[in-house]
Amino acid sequence: MGHSERAHALLSASGSKRWMNCPPSPRLEEQFPESKSEDAILGTFAHELAEHLLRGNLTTELKPSIYKKKLIEFQKNPLYSQSMLEYIEQYKTIVGEKYLTLKKDCKDAFILLEQELNYSSWAQDGSGTADVVLISEGVIEIVDLKYGQGVPVSAVGNPQMRLYALGAINEYSMLYDFDKVRMTIIQPRLDSVSEDEITVQELLEWGETEVKPVAALAFAGEGEYKSGDHCQFCRAKAVCRKRAEDNLEMARYEFQNPNILTHDEIAVILEQADALQKWAKDIQEYALDQAENHGVKFPGWKLVEGRSNRKYTDKEAVATKLKEEGYSTEVIYQPQEIWGITDMEKKIGKKLFADYLKDLVIKPAGKATLAKESDPRPELSSVASAVKDFDDDILS
Ligand code: SF4
Repeated sequence: MGHSERAHALLSASGSKRWMNCPPSPRLEEQFPESKSEDAILGTFAHELAEHLLRGNLTTELKPSIYKKKLIEFQKNPLYSQSMLEYIEQYKTIVGEKYLTLKKDCKDAFILLEQELNYSSWAQDGSGTADVVLISEGVIEIVDLKYGQGVPVSAVGNPQMRLYALGAINEYSMLYDFDKVRMTIIQPRLDSVSEDEITVQELLEWGETEVKPVAALAFAGEGEYKSGDHCQFCRAKAVCRKRAEDNLEMARYEFQNPNILTHDEIAVILEQADALQKWAKDIQEYALDQAENHGVKFPGWKLVEGRSNRKYTDKEAVATKLKEEGYSTEVIYQPQEIWGITDMEKKIGKKLFADYLKDLVIKPAGKATLAKESDPRPELSSVASAVKDFDDDILS
């Protein structure tokens, strides 16, 4: 079955951060159709390519001729790029090294790709598909590829990885006595590899004490709604009342001075600004889709035509006409322009891009931005404090 045709369990491993934080969300989501963003479509394609590379290089399942033929098919897909192949090669190398290391200690170690794992003993009807499972004497290792380039995802305490691990223990503990579980998340586009290791005993305790009770609530559609970062991929996110109430709570904030905000009050607003912006954007997109595609009327709002730009119906005909009128090619055609860095990297690949162009690319200092104190980037000095330091130096 292709990756994109897979059905997700109600209590899916990939959605576990959400349902473990907000147990009623899976049942609420059932009312809304699943939709796939462009990023998600690209991610699915990258996973299919990754599976093919691993199957062709780390297993004996594919004849070399079939492997090559299928790789050519991947390369014809418009979603394919040289840089994608390189990112997936990096992932393949890390998985290959892990597999070889296990084989050194246990010659019977084996690798499973795109393995369906059932953890329904802890979460009703719970199952999910792990990208890679490595089985060896004493150790189970789960590896997950994430192709997005948003934020690095930590494997430490990650419920998705732990649910896969529970499923793997459930399935393979007949073969070996496991005492350790390793979990690795690889995000090649962010250069991020995050690992966690726990004992099987700790994992089973987590399953009993943290998963079981919450999963029972989630399956029944009960428990408390709770909004947060985990709302990002919830299908109910635009119309969820709890999320709206939490975001609107700020509007009821009681400010000390009726006319001017204090710095402390601005800090409180900044804390919520990101969540508010995301929420407002989700509502705008949802309302537009409902009005445009489902005929919904929102009181006081109407569907109108947006701005558009003029465009040529036939560029060749435009050029021919202007030539006939005596215009030179400099007037008719734009000068050739070099591709931007991201596109060029996609075209020639990350490695060759670095080999040929590393001395011709600079990264200017970014514009100052406000970040939480917990952000790992070092703090910049403000223009005002730089001026003060300068004045102090002159006076001293
Ligand atoms: S939007 Fe957030 S709070 Fe609402 S159901 Fe989904 S996860 Fe829960």
